[in-house]
Amino acid sequence: MKKHNVFAGAFIDRLGHKRQDRSWLNNLIKSPDARFTPVWNHKCLVDGDPPHITLLKRSAVNSVMYDNESIFLGMFGKYPVFTFSLIADKAKLSGQGKFHELRYLGGVLPADEANLVAHAIALIKWHQLQKFCSLCGSVTQPDSGGNTQYCTSSKCGKIIFPSVDPAIIVLVSHGNKALLGRQANWPQDQYSTVAGFVEPGESLEDAVKREVFEETNIEVGKVRYHSSQPWPFPSSLMLGFTAEALSSEIILKDGELEDARWFSREQCRSPFPKLPFRISIARQLVNSWLDQE
Ligand SMILES: [Zn+2]
Repeated sequence: MKKHNVFAGAFIDRLGHKRQDRSWLNNLIKSPDARFTPVWNHKCLVDGDPPHITLLKRSAVNSVMYDNESIFLGMFGKYPVFTFSLIADKAKLSGQGKFHELRYLGGVLPADEANLVAHAIALIKWHQLQKFCSLCGSVTQPDSGGNTQYCTSSKCGKIIFPSVDPAIIVLVSHGNKALLGRQANWPQDQYSTVAGFVEPGESLEDAVKREVFEETNIEVGKVRYHSSQPWPFPSSLMLGFTAEALSSEIILKDGELEDARWFSREQCRSPFPKLPFRISIARQLVNSWLDQE
Protein backbone atom coordinates (compact mmCIF):
# COMPACT_ATOMS: atom_id res chain seq x y z
CA MET A 1 0.00 0.00 0.00
CA LYS A 2 1.22 3.47 -0.83
CA LYS A 3 2.28 5.47 2.22
CA HIS A 4 0.32 8.59 3.00
CA ASN A 5 2.04 11.87 2.07
CA VAL A 6 2.45 14.27 5.00
CA PHE A 7 0.10 17.33 4.76
CA ALA A 8 -2.18 15.47 2.28
CA GLY A 9 -5.54 13.88 3.07
CA ALA A 10 -9.15 15.02 2.93
CA PHE A 11 -9.61 15.10 6.68
CA ILE A 12 -11.66 18.27 6.73
CA ASP A 13 -15.07 18.84 5.17
CA ARG A 14 -14.55 22.20 3.48
CA LEU A 15 -18.29 22.72 2.84
CA GLY A 16 -17.55 24.66 -0.34
CA HIS A 17 -21.27 25.04 -1.14
CA LYS A 18 -22.14 26.42 2.31
CA ARG A 19 -19.26 28.81 2.96
CA GLN A 20 -20.59 31.30 0.41
CA ASP A 21 -23.55 31.93 2.72
CA ARG A 22 -22.46 34.85 4.91
CA SER A 23 -25.31 34.63 7.43
CA TRP A 24 -24.68 30.90 7.90
CA LEU A 25 -21.00 31.64 8.54
CA ASN A 26 -21.83 34.50 10.93
CA ASN A 27 -23.92 32.12 13.03
CA LEU A 28 -21.32 29.37 12.82
CA ILE A 29 -18.46 31.53 14.12
CA LYS A 30 -20.56 32.45 17.15
CA SER A 31 -21.64 28.87 17.88
CA PRO A 32 -20.30 27.15 21.03
CA ASP A 33 -18.73 24.41 18.88
CA ALA A 34 -16.57 26.85 16.87
CA ARG A 35 -12.81 26.33 17.31
CA PHE A 36 -9.94 28.62 16.33
CA THR A 37 -6.36 27.85 15.41
CA PRO A 38 -4.13 30.95 15.29
CA VAL A 39 -1.20 31.39 12.89
CA TRP A 40 1.61 33.62 14.07
CA ASN A 41 4.69 34.34 11.97
CA HIS A 42 3.84 31.36 9.70
CA LYS A 43 3.75 29.10 12.74
CA CYS A 44 0.87 27.12 14.26
CA LEU A 45 -0.03 26.64 17.90
CA VAL A 46 0.39 23.15 19.38
CA ASP A 47 0.43 21.77 22.90
CA GLY A 48 1.30 18.53 24.70
CA ASP A 49 3.81 15.74 24.30
CA PRO A 50 3.42 14.35 21.71
CA PRO A 51 2.09 17.66 20.38
CA HIS A 52 -1.45 18.18 19.14
CA ILE A 53 -2.92 21.20 17.45
CA THR A 54 -4.46 23.71 19.86
CA LEU A 55 -8.08 24.40 18.97
CA LEU A 56 -9.19 27.37 21.02
CA LYS A 57 -12.71 28.24 22.05
CA ARG A 58 -14.11 31.57 21.08
CA SER A 59 -13.72 33.03 24.55
CA ALA A 60 -9.93 32.46 24.31
CA VAL A 61 -9.54 34.45 21.09
CA ASN A 62 -11.99 37.32 21.61
CA SER A 63 -9.22 39.76 22.50
CA VAL A 64 -6.90 38.83 19.60
CA MET A 65 -9.21 38.16 16.63
CA TYR A 66 -11.74 40.07 14.54
CA ASP A 67 -14.52 37.92 13.09
CA ASN A 68 -14.10 39.44 9.62
CA GLU A 69 -10.43 38.44 9.49
CA SER A 70 -11.05 34.80 10.34
CA ILE A 71 -10.90 32.10 7.68
CA PHE A 72 -13.28 29.16 7.68
CA LEU A 73 -11.36 25.93 7.06
CA GLY A 74 -14.28 23.52 7.39
CA MET A 75 -15.68 20.87 9.68
CA PHE A 76 -12.89 19.06 11.54
CA GLY A 77 -14.72 16.18 13.14
CA LYS A 78 -17.65 17.82 14.95
CA TYR A 79 -16.02 21.24 15.16
CA PRO A 80 -16.29 24.09 12.66
CA VAL A 81 -12.66 25.29 12.55
CA PHE A 82 -11.44 28.78 11.74
CA THR A 83 -7.94 30.16 11.45
CA PHE A 84 -6.69 33.73 11.77
CA SER A 85 -3.43 35.62 11.60
CA LEU A 86 -2.29 36.55 15.09
CA ILE A 87 -0.87 40.04 14.89
CA ALA A 88 -1.77 41.12 18.39
CA ASP A 89 0.52 40.34 21.29
CA LYS A 90 0.86 36.56 21.31
CA ALA A 91 1.47 36.69 25.04
CA LYS A 92 -2.30 36.96 25.37
CA LEU A 93 -2.41 33.29 24.37
CA SER A 94 0.24 32.22 26.85
CA GLY A 95 -0.41 28.90 28.51
CA GLN A 96 -2.14 27.57 25.38
CA GLY A 97 0.92 25.95 23.85
CA LYS A 98 3.83 26.89 21.60
CA PHE A 99 4.04 28.10 18.02
CA HIS A 100 6.04 25.87 15.67
CA GLU A 101 6.95 25.89 11.99
CA LEU A 102 5.18 23.68 9.51
CA ARG A 103 8.25 21.60 8.59
CA TYR A 104 8.60 20.54 12.22
CA LEU A 105 4.87 19.98 12.69
CA GLY A 106 4.70 17.75 9.59
CA GLY A 107 7.00 15.29 11.36
CA VAL A 108 5.23 15.18 14.72
CA LEU A 109 1.48 15.76 14.26
CA PRO A 110 -1.04 13.06 13.39
CA ALA A 111 -1.96 13.01 9.68
CA ASP A 112 -5.28 14.84 10.11
CA GLU A 113 -3.75 17.66 12.16
CA ALA A 114 -0.79 18.01 9.78
CA ASN A 115 -3.29 18.46 6.96
CA LEU A 116 -5.19 21.08 8.96
CA VAL A 117 -2.11 23.20 9.76
CA ALA A 118 -0.89 23.05 6.15
CA HIS A 119 -4.34 24.20 5.02
CA ALA A 120 -4.41 27.05 7.56
CA ILE A 121 -0.91 28.33 6.81
CA ALA A 122 -1.44 28.18 3.03
CA LEU A 123 -4.54 30.38 3.27
CA ILE A 124 -2.98 32.83 5.75
CA LYS A 125 0.05 33.28 3.46
CA TRP A 126 -2.21 33.83 0.46
CA HIS A 127 -4.16 36.57 2.24
CA GLN A 128 -0.92 38.26 3.27
CA LEU A 129 0.22 38.41 -0.36
CA GLN A 130 -3.17 39.11 -1.97
CA LYS A 131 -4.17 42.72 -1.19
CA PHE A 132 -5.01 44.35 -4.52
CA CYS A 133 -6.90 43.44 -7.70
CA SER A 134 -4.56 42.47 -10.54
CA LEU A 135 -6.97 43.93 -13.12
CA CYS A 136 -7.74 47.40 -11.72
CA GLY A 137 -5.52 47.82 -8.66
CA SER A 138 -8.39 48.33 -6.22
CA VAL A 139 -8.33 46.90 -2.73
CA THR A 140 -9.62 43.32 -2.41
CA GLN A 141 -11.66 41.83 0.44
CA PRO A 142 -12.15 38.26 1.69
CA ASP A 143 -15.29 36.34 0.73
CA SER A 144 -16.61 32.79 1.20
CA GLY A 145 -15.23 32.69 4.72
CA GLY A 146 -11.79 33.77 3.51
CA ASN A 147 -11.59 31.09 0.82
CA THR A 148 -11.81 33.67 -1.98
CA GLN A 149 -11.38 37.42 -2.34
CA TYR A 150 -13.27 39.92 -4.47
CA CYS A 151 -12.29 43.27 -5.95
CA THR A 152 -14.08 46.10 -4.11
CA SER A 153 -14.41 48.25 -7.27
CA SER A 154 -18.06 48.11 -8.35
CA LYS A 155 -16.92 48.44 -11.97
CA CYS A 156 -14.67 45.43 -11.67
CA GLY A 157 -15.75 42.92 -9.00
CA LYS A 158 -13.18 40.33 -10.04
CA ILE A 159 -13.27 37.16 -7.92
CA ILE A 160 -9.83 35.93 -6.90
CA PHE A 161 -9.08 32.35 -5.90
CA PRO A 162 -6.15 31.19 -3.74
CA SER A 163 -3.13 30.41 -5.89
CA VAL A 164 -1.65 26.92 -5.98
CA ASP A 165 1.57 26.47 -7.94
CA PRO A 166 1.99 23.01 -9.51
CA ALA A 167 5.48 21.56 -9.41
CA ILE A 168 6.56 18.13 -10.66
CA ILE A 169 8.92 15.88 -8.75
CA VAL A 170 10.17 12.68 -10.31
CA LEU A 171 12.15 9.58 -9.46
CA VAL A 172 13.97 8.60 -12.67
CA SER A 173 15.22 5.00 -12.72
CA HIS A 174 17.62 3.15 -15.00
CA GLY A 175 17.94 -0.56 -14.28
CA ASN A 176 18.77 -0.90 -10.58
CA LYS A 177 19.72 2.78 -10.20
CA ALA A 178 17.92 6.02 -9.49
CA LEU A 179 18.85 9.54 -10.53
CA LEU A 180 19.39 11.85 -7.57
CA GLY A 181 20.90 15.32 -7.55
CA ARG A 182 21.78 18.03 -5.06
CA GLN A 183 21.79 21.81 -4.94
CA ALA A 184 24.83 23.65 -3.62
CA ASN A 185 23.00 25.10 -0.60
CA TRP A 186 21.62 21.78 0.71
CA PRO A 187 22.95 19.99 3.80
CA GLN A 188 26.14 18.06 3.13
CA ASP A 189 25.73 14.75 1.23
CA GLN A 190 21.97 15.25 0.82
CA TYR A 191 20.52 14.22 -2.54
CA SER A 192 16.98 14.29 -3.85
CA THR A 193 14.80 13.63 -6.87
CA VAL A 194 14.54 16.10 -9.76
CA ALA A 195 11.85 18.75 -9.30
CA GLY A 196 10.65 21.95 -10.93
CA PHE A 197 7.65 24.18 -11.57
CA VAL A 198 5.21 23.45 -14.36
CA GLU A 199 5.30 26.21 -16.98
CA PRO A 200 2.31 27.76 -18.80
CA GLY A 201 1.15 25.68 -21.76
CA GLU A 202 2.78 22.53 -20.45
CA SER A 203 1.30 19.16 -19.46
CA LEU A 204 2.61 17.46 -16.33
CA GLU A 205 4.37 14.72 -18.30
CA ASP A 206 5.94 17.33 -20.58
CA ALA A 207 7.17 19.22 -17.50
CA VAL A 208 8.71 16.00 -16.12
CA LYS A 209 10.59 15.35 -19.38
CA ARG A 210 11.75 18.97 -19.70
CA GLU A 211 12.95 19.37 -16.12
CA VAL A 212 14.91 16.11 -16.12
CA PHE A 213 16.51 16.95 -19.47
CA GLU A 214 17.30 20.57 -18.50
CA GLU A 215 18.90 19.63 -15.19
CA THR A 216 20.70 16.40 -16.10
CA ASN A 217 20.56 15.85 -19.89
CA ILE A 218 18.75 12.55 -19.25
CA GLU A 219 15.90 11.70 -21.62
CA VAL A 220 12.96 9.88 -20.07
CA GLY A 221 10.36 7.63 -21.69
CA LYS A 222 7.24 6.50 -19.88
CA VAL A 223 6.09 8.85 -17.08
CA ARG A 224 3.78 7.45 -14.38
CA TYR A 225 1.87 9.38 -11.72
CA HIS A 226 2.69 8.39 -8.12
CA SER A 227 0.96 10.76 -5.65
CA SER A 228 0.84 14.42 -4.66
CA GLN A 229 1.57 16.57 -1.63
CA PRO A 230 0.44 20.07 -0.63
CA TRP A 231 3.64 22.01 0.06
CA PRO A 232 2.67 25.47 1.30
CA PHE A 233 6.15 27.03 1.18
CA PRO A 234 4.45 29.26 0.16
CA SER A 235 1.91 27.70 -2.22
CA SER A 236 3.22 24.67 -4.11
CA LEU A 237 1.45 21.46 -4.96
CA MET A 238 4.06 18.74 -5.51
CA LEU A 239 2.98 16.22 -8.16
CA GLY A 240 5.06 13.08 -7.83
CA PHE A 241 5.97 10.81 -10.75
CA THR A 242 8.25 7.96 -11.67
CA ALA A 243 9.92 7.75 -15.07
CA GLU A 244 12.25 5.43 -16.94
CA ALA A 245 15.45 6.84 -18.39
CA LEU A 246 16.21 6.31 -22.07
CA SER A 247 19.81 7.52 -21.67
CA SER A 248 22.36 7.46 -18.84
CA GLU A 249 25.01 10.15 -19.46
CA ILE A 250 24.52 12.97 -16.93
CA ILE A 251 25.43 16.52 -17.95
CA LEU A 252 24.50 19.31 -15.53
CA LYS A 253 22.99 21.69 -18.01
CA ASP A 254 21.09 24.52 -16.36
CA GLY A 255 23.24 25.05 -13.26
CA GLU A 256 20.42 24.27 -10.81
CA LEU A 257 22.23 21.18 -9.49
CA GLU A 258 25.84 21.06 -8.33
CA ASP A 259 25.91 17.28 -8.67
CA ALA A 260 23.71 14.46 -9.97
CA ARG A 261 24.46 10.74 -9.99
CA TRP A 262 22.97 7.31 -10.48
CA PHE A 263 22.63 5.61 -7.09
CA SER A 264 21.93 1.91 -6.55
CA ARG A 265 19.48 0.67 -3.93
CA GLU A 266 22.41 -0.54 -1.87
CA GLN A 267 23.94 2.96 -1.93
CA CYS A 268 20.60 4.54 -0.99
CA ARG A 269 20.48 2.34 2.11
CA SER A 270 24.04 3.33 3.10
CA PRO A 271 25.14 6.55 4.92
CA PHE A 272 25.92 8.20 1.56
CA PRO A 273 23.84 9.68 0.04
CA LYS A 274 21.65 11.23 2.69
CA LEU A 275 18.07 10.81 1.50
CA PRO A 276 15.46 13.61 1.30
CA PHE A 277 13.69 14.77 4.47
CA ARG A 278 11.32 12.19 5.91
CA ILE A 279 8.18 14.30 5.48
CA SER A 280 8.80 15.08 1.80
CA ILE A 281 7.20 13.39 -1.19
CA ALA A 282 10.75 13.03 -2.55
CA ARG A 283 11.46 10.60 0.30
CA GLN A 284 8.24 8.71 -0.48
CA LEU A 285 9.29 8.37 -4.12
CA VAL A 286 12.69 7.00 -3.06
CA ASN A 287 11.12 4.67 -0.47
CA SER A 288 8.60 3.31 -3.02
CA TRP A 289 11.44 2.63 -5.42
CA LEU A 290 13.48 0.89 -2.69
CA ASP A 291 10.44 -1.26 -1.83
CA GLN A 292 10.07 -2.41 -5.45
CA GLU A 293 13.21 -4.51 -5.32
ZN1 LIG B 1 -10.60 44.99 -9.84
